[in-house]
Amino acid sequence: MAATLGLGYLSYRSAVQLARVSEASVGRSNRALGLKLIDRIEKVIIDGDRTFFQLVNLDDPREFRELWRRIVKVSPAVESVIVLSEDRRVLHLVAKLSRSALRYFRKIFVERILPDMALDKLAPNKHKHLHKKYEGAYYLMSYIRRRSAGRDYFVVLNVNLPYVLREIFREEFRELEETNSIAVTDEDEERVLYGRPLDPSESSLLFEDRFPTTLYKWRLQIAPRQIRSLSREARARRLSDVVLVGMAVGVICVGLLVLFVAMRKERRANELKSEFISNVSHELKTPLSLIRMFGELLASGRARDPATSKEYAEIIARESERLTGQIDNVLDFARIERGKDAFEMAQADLRVVVEKVADLCRYRTDQAGARLTIRMPEEPAIGPFDESAMTLLLLNLVENAIKYGVVTGGEIRVTLSRQTDGLVLRVADDGPGIADDELERIFERFYRGRAARKGEQRGSGIGLSLVKHVAEAHGGRVTVRSGLGQGAVFDVVIPAPDGPA
Ligand code: ADP
Repeated sequence: MAATLGLGYLSYRSAVQLARVSEASVGRSNRALGLKLIDRIEKVIIDGDRTFFQLVNLDDPREFRELWRRIVKVSPAVESVIVLSEDRRVLHLVAKLSRSALRYFRKIFVERILPDMALDKLAPNKHKHLHKKYEGAYYLMSYIRRRSAGRDYFVVLNVNLPYVLREIFREEFRELEETNSIAVTDEDEERVLYGRPLDPSESSLLFEDRFPTTLYKWRLQIAPRQIRSLSREARARRLSDVVLVGMAVGVICVGLLVLFVAMRKERRANELKSEFISNVSHELKTPLSLIRMFGELLASGRARDPATSKEYAEIIARESERLTGQIDNVLDFARIERGKDAFEMAQADLRVVVEKVADLCRYRTDQAGARLTIRMPEEPAIGPFDESAMTLLLLNLVENAIKYGVVTGGEIRVTLSRQTDGLVLRVADDGPGIADDELERIFERFYRGRAARKGEQRGSGIGLSLVKHVAEAHGGRVTVRSGLGQGAVFDVVIPAPDGPA
């Protein structure tokens, strides 16, 4: 059982691991795609900035302003360009803005953006970015230190972010968006700047990372379009694995249980058989040893007077009869257990059977200090019976009453009567009775009652099983009414056509 459960657990674990491995490999390739995309977008922005920086010539301020007015006007990628002196004064500011918007931008630039730029540490021709939100709007500043006519300047490009979102992202994402959902979110406010929000809790297949150099306040998220169906599939697969493994374990456990029960039954049957053999041998031995003892006494001539000899001979005759009865019981049991064919049904009178059994048992009842009373109808109780089987049936019931139900001065009542459902043979005693929980079991073959096993009375546990077989073979039944200390009443009902009884 433990091995089966272990096996079940192992195969479930390997199924789960397999699902995890395939999920992880999808996740890995997704991640590689995401990193490549981030790289490409950064390169597009940086390359664009470099191209613009190359166009900057600070030797002639007039020419500079003229050229950049045009550049800013036609190029959607640049919002404005600012040139700062080494001491951070604004020398030029060219922008495609209205007068008031320009004033607003200049104010924000000088007061807020400029102090955030790391100009001090910037080496000549080195290129840096500032990505930040000011007054609710994001800015991307791309700046460089340049030298012209022996002086240092800083050139700052204000990158047009709506253009980046609208054009660069759309262009770069186009191919991947056929199979994936893409979103760009704002790290601080969790605001979605591009695409639709993706649910990070949904699956391990979601890729999420930030742009390292340029748009570093934003994060890129990519999830396979079928992310929902993939995780649903994975869940369903896991569930079906669990169900299958559970079923297999269940079937094996049921099989083992059946095997276990069958083995127990077999063992119990074997135990009962050996008990039966020892009980039968003992039962046969008792009358045999009496016969032998009294036979030897007679042979040795120790019984001098004829009365004693007669008594010994009677004992021998009685015990021989008992022995024959017991051997018959065992043989009949084997014969009757084979089925209906073993019976020879013929019209017979049950009263004859009752009388025969009463004759056989009266002496033993007297010996036990009790009385055997018989009540029978005057009219014949005719029916199709196997006479010897019915004799065996009644003999077993009366012998049981003598063995287990006799009390000194008590009575064993054998009654034959006709009732609505047929002929009823009743054997009743005033003995200690039978416990409730044993009333069913006493009819099982080889079963002996608790009190019987403890007491001196020997038996083989086949008597009542035989009674049941015989009654049922005649289309009838046997029932018992009893309780501890209340005596026992056994009723055998045999269907018989109506007639005088
Ligand atoms: P056996 O007599 O060989 O033990 P039976 O099948 O004839 O086997 O009886 C089964 C059990 O039923 C007996 O062991 C005994 O415990 C119980 N039994 C049968 N008849 C009586 C009775 N009249 N009173 C009390 N117990 C009885």
